Amino acid sequence: MFIDEVKIYVKAGNGGDGCSSLYKDIFNRIGSPDGGPGGNGGDVVLEVDHNVQTLLDFQYRQHHEAERGYHGSSTHKKGARGKDLVIKVPPGTLVKDADTGLVMRDLITIGDRVIIAKGGHGGRGNSRNYDATKGAPGQEKTVLLELKLIADAGIIGYPNAGKSTLISKISSAHPKIASYPFTTKEPVLGVVRIHEEAVLVVAEIPGLIEGAHEGRGLGDKFLRHVERTKVLIHLVDISAFEGRDPIQDYKKLNFELKAYSKKLAKKFQFIALNKIDITDAEAHLKKFKKAFPKKKVFPISAVTGKGVKELLQAVYKKAKSTKSDGKE
Ligand code: GDP
Ligand code: MG
Repeated sequence: MFIDEVKIYVKAGNGGDGCSSLYKDIFNRIGSPDGGPGGNGGDVVLEVDHNVQTLLDFQYRQHHEAERGYHGSSTHKKGARGKDLVIKVPPGTLVKDADTGLVMRDLITIGDRVIIAKGGHGGRGNSRNYDATKGAPGQEKTVLLELKLIADAGIIGYPNAGKSTLISKISSAHPKIASYPFTTKEPVLGVVRIHEEAVLVVAEIPGLIEGAHEGRGLGDKFLRHVERTKVLIHLVDISAFEGRDPIQDYKKLNFELKAYSKKLAKKFQFIALNKIDITDAEAHLKKFKKAFPKKKVFPISAVTGKGVKELLQAVYKKAKSTKSDGKE
C-alpha cells in the first residue's frame, strides 16, 4: 500500500460583529440600545464521500475557508450564521494536525464527519450594560491528510528506460514524484486522472533489476504491495541508446521478473516502447514488432507525451476489469 499525502490549510469563519445601535423616537429622545448580536462563523468540516477516491484535488486547492458570520443589526436582529465548509474526502483518510503530527481522526465510513476548525462566536450587540463587541476569529489550522492507496499498475523496466520520467509526466502535480536513488525502498507513486472521476494509481517499481544484479532484492514488504497491482507496464527503451538491444532488454527483464516473483510475472503486461522521439527508434520499433508479431505494443515518448494517452486509457480499462490477484 502506498501513502498519498497532502497538506491543507483551513480557516473557519470569523464571528460577525455585534451591532451598536440606539433606537430613538419622539417619546424616547435619549434612545435605547437595540444592537443585535453577530452570527457565528461557519465551521470547516471533513466528510467522507464515496465519490471521492483520492486526494488528487487537494493538490490544486490547498486553502479552504468557511464563510464568516454576518453582522448584527438594529432592532435586536441577529446576524446570520456563516455557512459551514464541507470538504469531501475519500474513505480511509487519516487526518493529522500538521504541527504536532497527532492523529485527529480516522475517517473510515461513508458519512463520517469531523469539525476540524470551529467558527468564531458572533459578537454581542449593545445593551444598557454592555458595549457591542467584535466577532471572535475562526480557528485556523494546517492539517495533513493521508490516504493509503493500492496501485493499479506497476511500471517495470531497465534502469534509464524512462520509468521516472513517465510517472512524473503523467502525474506532474504529485509531490512524491522525484528522482531517487534506487537503494530507496519507497516506491514512487503517481495518481493519474484519466477523465473526470476516473483515476489510475501508478507506481514505479524501483530497483528490480538493479537489486537482482547485485543480489539485493527489494524488501518483502514492498514486494507484497507491488504484487497487489493489477497490471504491469513494461517500459522498454526503444532508442537502443548506448548500444542496448531493446529485444534482449525485454526478454531479460521478463526472465528476471520470473525469478524474482512468480506472482508479478503472471500479471498482464502492457508493452510500452519508449523514446520514439529519438531518431533511431523507428528502425528498432520495426525490429521489435517483427520479433513479437503477436504482441500489441504502445510506442510512446515519455518526454513529448506522444502515445501516452492511448497507453493510459488501455491500462485504465484493463485495470478496472482486473482484480488485485490478477484475475479478470
Ligand atoms: P528510469 O531509470 O527508468 O526511471 O529512467 P528515467 O526516467 O530516470 O530516464 C532515464 C533517462 O532517459 C533520462 O535522461 C530521461 O530524460 C531520458 N528519457 C526518458 N524518457 C524519454 C523519452 O521519451 N525520450 C527521450 N529522448 N528521453 C527520455
Ligand atoms: Mg527511476
